[in-house]
Amino acid sequence: MLNQHRDLRALAVGPNMTPNRCRAMTEQEFFWIYENHIKRYAAIHRAECGFCNRGEGVGGGYNRLHAAWMGPYESLDDAAHKLLARIATLHDIRYCTRCF
Ligand SMILES: [Zn+2]
Repeated sequence: MLNQHRDLRALAVGPNMTPNRCRAMTEQEFFWIYENHIKRYAAIHRAECGFCNRGEGVGGGYNRLHAAWMGPYESLDDAAHKLLARIATLHDIRYCTRCF
């Protein structure tokens, strides 16, 4: 959770060349945002992440009253900008700790 807001803002304004980002530049990869309406947090996932499952959630199911998957986004920057636009309504934003 520490520094996630600042990290996302840095990503939105400039390059952030992590190893995974380099991989993203050589293969078409998609990103999704999971938002939990009850706990008011959101996280960016890679489409292939087991939590994400291309926006279907773990095991292909999640409670649509309590959460939503938004995407797919063609770039991490697109997903980060979408998340930043919603920052005022959320307590926490982060990258998934499994796929990032
Ligand atoms: Zn993930």
